[in-house]
Amino acid sequence: DAGCRYALVTGGNKGIGLEICKQLASKGITVILTSREEKRGLEALQALKDSGLSHHVDFLQLDVVDSASIAAAAQFLTTRYGRLDILVNNAGILGAELEGDVSILQELVQANAATVFANSEVETPLQLKAKGTMIQTYEAAQKCIHTNYYGVKRVTEALIPLLRLSDSPTIVNVSSILGHLRLLRNERANAVLSNEAGLTEEAVDGVVREFLKDFKEGRLEESKWPSHGAAYKVSKAALNGYTKVLAKKHADFVINSLCPGFARTDITSNLGAISAEEAGGRVVKVALLPRGEPTGGYLIDKDLYGIAT
Ligand code: NDP
Repeated sequence: DAGCRYALVTGGNKGIGLEICKQLASKGITVILTSREEKRGLEALQALKDSGLSHHVDFLQLDVVDSASIAAAAQFLTTRYGRLDILVNNAGILGAELEGDVSILQELVQANAATVFANSEVETPLQLKAKGTMIQTYEAAQKCIHTNYYGVKRVTEALIPLLRLSDSPTIVNVSSILGHLRLLRNERANAVLSNEAGLTEEAVDGVVREFLKDFKEGRLEESKWPSHGAAYKVSKAALNGYTKVLAKKHADFVINSLCPGFARTDITSNLGAISAEEAGGRVVKVALLPRGEPTGGYLIDKDLYGIAT
């Protein structure tokens, strides 16, 4: 159907992803809500149908770290819809266990935002306090990188042929302020990712590989990777780099990454400053940018963090 637009959202069963599905569907776009767990996805789908959106929502199982699941999703889209107009890579994990007083997350995000916007250093006592609250093992770090970075790459690569068949192919990668290069510290990673003109997919992969190698060999501090939530920060910084490379490669697409804002969802232990609905609305706005709009951007809104600059 030429008049219809088709959007696929990863991690659509809850949080910001579910809001993205709801808002896109309420604009008349046909949304393929995907979830790694069929049961959770079908429950979310039913909730959207119950709210009157039944003509605009469909469901598909999609685990972004499972290549068989990704291949099956591409096949399903090919036979059922024949193309894709909007891909929202939303699925993501923190890659660390929060322990003890998790309310520190609130302060920490604010401190990180202050570093990004004012280029000052995050307070050391806060970092130390945070270290005891965010427990990260190598296995968790690996899973985080595989979900937030390689997961997006694999899903995107599998769906690009279907996006090519659209009149207005759009990709939105849900990133984070925590992926800002000012928080990355590691000099080599910074040099590679800030060199926009020379950036390649292989170079971004190299940053991620180096991080995991340093983690495995106990060199996180020595190599100056972030002292807390390192895997999450590296995964989102790499995602921003990949977004830029991809936008350059597919100049006729609109491809951007953005931080949706610090939102009350499971990933933040519901400690955010804005609702999932508001965060979802920010992603939808970027998903609906018309062709010809700036592409390759990493969009962050400083007003979301209450930071005076
Ligand atoms: P939630 O934890 O509520 O939702 C995360 C979603 O990702 C869930 O649907 C989860 O599925 C899904 N997911 C995790 N792993 C996989 C996988 N392997 N395959 C498919 N789906 C997967 O968090 P949010 O809604 O807040 O997060 C959405 C995105 O927004 C993430 O990328 C996050 O990094 C980003 N973000 C969030 C911010 C916030 O303040 N909330 C701030 C900045 C960025 P399941 O239910 O099965 O676990």
